[in-house]
Amino acid sequence: MRKVNKEKTRLLPFFIPHIGCPYICVFCNQPRISGHQEMVTPAIIRSSIQRAVSEQGYSGQWEVAYFGGSFTAIPQEVQDTLLEPAKEAFQQGLIQGIRLSTRPDAIREDRLKELYASGVRTIELGVQTLEESMLVESKRGHTVEDVEQACKMIREQEITLGIQLLPGLPGETWMTLVNTAVKAGQLQADLCRIYPVIVIEDTELADRVRQGSYVPLTIEQAVAYSAFLKSYLEGKGVQIIRVGLQSTEDFDAGRGIVGGPYAPAFGELVVNYEWLQAIQQTIEEHLEIFGVAHRITVEYPRAFTSKVRGLKNRNIEYFGQEYKQIEWTWKQKQEDIVANVLHVMIDHILYSLPL
Ligand code: SF4
Repeated sequence: MRKVNKEKTRLLPFFIPHIGCPYICVFCNQPRISGHQEMVTPAIIRSSIQRAVSEQGYSGQWEVAYFGGSFTAIPQEVQDTLLEPAKEAFQQGLIQGIRLSTRPDAIREDRLKELYASGVRTIELGVQTLEESMLVESKRGHTVEDVEQACKMIREQEITLGIQLLPGLPGETWMTLVNTAVKAGQLQADLCRIYPVIVIEDTELADRVRQGSYVPLTIEQAVAYSAFLKSYLEGKGVQIIRVGLQSTEDFDAGRGIVGGPYAPAFGELVVNYEWLQAIQQTIEEHLEIFGVAHRITVEYPRAFTSKVRGLKNRNIEYFGQEYKQIEWTWKQKQEDIVANVLHVMIDHILYSLPL
């Protein structure tokens, strides 16, 4: 039975540049995204594994991850050379699995069997969107059917299946996003990363932004799209392992970015927005029944302070603006006994939202 390992797993990531990919998707400047231009060598991989597992005194699970390119599209002898040190470490019990990222049309059943025998336990597929016309417009070079076939083969091999989605590609609307979410839910993935499209320098999208033929998402749109995908897929049992690109020094300084919703704390903004929606829905339902609300008290456990109040109190400000006539109180709960619920008291009625 295919399982996501719930034990804490630490990834030991290696970035494989663009060598495996026969395409140039409109949004991709792979070397800049990974921040690593040079090819990693087996010797570096071997010594990094040894150092990590021996020096950090960590007794949990280790997984060696090959990220950044289309691993299974690399010539097979190069794949095998790169895999060798991780395979040895897996066979010696030093690591508990190997993870790869790749393209959906670079998955073959016979190769999956060999990869499994080498210790590959997780494959993350660059799915991006499940809207056929958007795959074409983004020059992905594969179809929705390729994605569905690849996911099926990975699941059948009992390898943990991860998918990556990119809300905001050319042609995206709420309609295409909902369509992608529904189809993504049917892929039965275990894990998902959500990266709203950031326009990177030296990509076709960057040219299109300059020509005015592509308008990137605003942060607000990207937060709303990502929150929708996240909650929809979580409802289907998919574990969301990342929302928003990892921040880098260059990105934080605006270097290499032409446009798009980049924010260092993007994932946090999405969680803030989910709480905003939950509280707002409670208020709207109350108003629908009672027609009026005078005072609202939101009481949250300490651990949820920034999630509920929002980064720099953005949720508090939003509600203050949106419901000006209501008297608001935001406070931390004193007792631990009901730590797993958020209380929203509207006049004399108490609503409990599970955390
Ligand atoms: S398939 Fe992946 S590596 Fe290749 S161009 Fe597209 S995003 Fe970049």
